[in-house]
Parts: sequence; structure tokens; C-alpha cells
Amino acid sequence: MIDAKLASKTHSAQHTQIRLSDAVSIGGSEIVVIGGPCTVESLDQMEQVAHHLSTTPVHALRGGVYKPRTSPYAFQGMGIEGLQILAEVRRQSGLPVVTEVMSIAQIEPVAAYADMLQIGSRNMQNFELLKALGQVNKPVLLKRGLSATIEEFIMAAEYILSHGNSQVVLCERGIRSFDSYTRNVLDLGAVVALRQLTHLPVIVDPSHAAGKRELVADLARAAIACGADGLIIECHPEPEKSVSDARQALSLEDMAGLVYSLQPIATAVGRRLNGGVAEKPALAIAC
Ligand code: PEP
Ligand code: MN
Repeated sequence: MIDAKLASKTHSAQHTQIRLSDAVSIGGSEIVVIGGPCTVESLDQMEQVAHHLSTTPVHALRGGVYKPRTSPYAFQGMGIEGLQILAEVRRQSGLPVVTEVMSIAQIEPVAAYADMLQIGSRNMQNFELLKALGQVNKPVLLKRGLSATIEEFIMAAEYILSHGNSQVVLCERGIRSFDSYTRNVLDLGAVVALRQLTHLPVIVDPSHAAGKRELVADLARAAIACGADGLIIECHPEPEKSVSDARQALSLEDMAGLVYSLQPIATAVGRRLNGGVAEKPALAIAC
């Protein structure tokens, strides 16, 4: 029995919708796709991403500026300069932006620039950070911890909700297991369970689950088929040159092909996938 009050379906029988911008809400009939690189690397990189994705049914941009790297010697992110780049590409494209916050001190600058604050896997049970996010009037994208149970995940959301912020989106991003062929195991059972147990929107990150770009598209389609409210997917103008998570990054062309390929699946499960002004590519690219 999960001790959640505010996150649970019994608190609200309605599925909650979380607004990222005037045009974009997560949790309604429309599937929301968030795309972009693991790390913001330059204005030119983000302009290419935004320019390309804004002509497809992608609804928001991602890009980390404070990066939780395994090694302290790896690039740690562009910080404030990266936030300014995100603000600039949001201005140019009209797309809302999502980026990670790793500490209480980062909340204020990130909230000043971003439309949704991401809590990464490694911080899912950083309770002081969760409590502080409860006092922010911005949507929070809460990623499942590396080895978190469904109950721990829901209770982490409960921390944010119970401290005053009702705008929480859950993100299944794969959990640790014994097999290293895939980076993590995408737990689609959790997606179904979370949508039954909570009223919060649930999105899926197939990139960090798979760890390999050739697995991402099929996992993304499976996520929409099983009821996810959206996706967050890593892509890059030159995937092999990504400063982080290069192996799982899609090219911008493959990202577009993937997003268009979701449309019939969304329709089949009674959802819609709108947005984008470009013609459908002649051939959906197999990723
Ligand atoms: C990310 O989104 O780039 C990231 C680090 O994700 P996670 O916290 O799920 O590992
Ligand atoms: Mn990443």
C-alpha cells in the first residue's frame, strides 16, 4: 500500500495536465515530445537543434547546463551561459525549454530561464532539493532514480506536491539491472502502473534507458503504445561529437523520422500528436 496522498489517483480522479507554455501542456489528449542534446554545448548547436525540431511535431527543447557526470573530470556543463543559450533558442523557436537542476542554489537561476526544471535520476531522493522545488512555481520533471521502486518514485513526487508545487511530471528513464547490453532496462510496466496509481502525467526517456541510438525509436513507439503522455529524447546535429551520451544521441533527421512515426501509434491509442509545420518526410528514417 503506497502512502501517497496528493500524488495518488484517489486525490484526483482526473488526469492532471501540466502547462509548459500557452501552447504546450503535458497530460492531455496530445502526446508531448521533448527533444534536444544531452548537454548544451554552444549557441550554434542549440540553434541548429531548435531550427530543425521546430518544423516537426516536437513541442519542447531539452539541454543540460548543469550536468551530473560520473567523473568529476568530465565536462560539467555551461552553467549560466548555457541558460542564456536556452533562453535565446526559446525566443527564436517559441518552444519551451527543459533543463536539469542539481542543487538548491541552482533553482533560482534555472527557474528564471527554463519552463520546466528537471530532477535527474541521481537526485530523485535528494529530499531537501525536492522540498525546495515544492516552493517553486514552475513545472518539475522528476526522473525515476537509477534503482528506485515505483513506490519510492511516487513518494519522491509526493515531497514536491506536499511542499506546495502541484506541477509534477514523472519520467521513466530505465532502471539498473544485471545486463549491460542496454544501459538500463526501460520499465514500461512502471509507466502503466504509474498511470493507474497517480493522476500525474508520465513521460518516457528511451535514450537513457537504451544507451544505444538504434534502440531508441522502437522503445519510444512502445512507450506511446502503452499510454505514456510524452517522450524526452536526446538528439544532436552531430551525434558522434556529443560531449556527453554520444552513443545514444539521434541525428536531427532520425529524430524527425521517429516523431512522425509516432503519429499512427498515438491515433491507435486515442491520442494526438500535433505540431510542426513541415511536410512529412518522404521516408520515415529507421533509427
Ligand atoms: C539527462 O537527462 O541528461 C540525464 C542525465 O538523465 P538521467 O538523470 O535520467 O540519467
Ligand atoms: Mn544524457
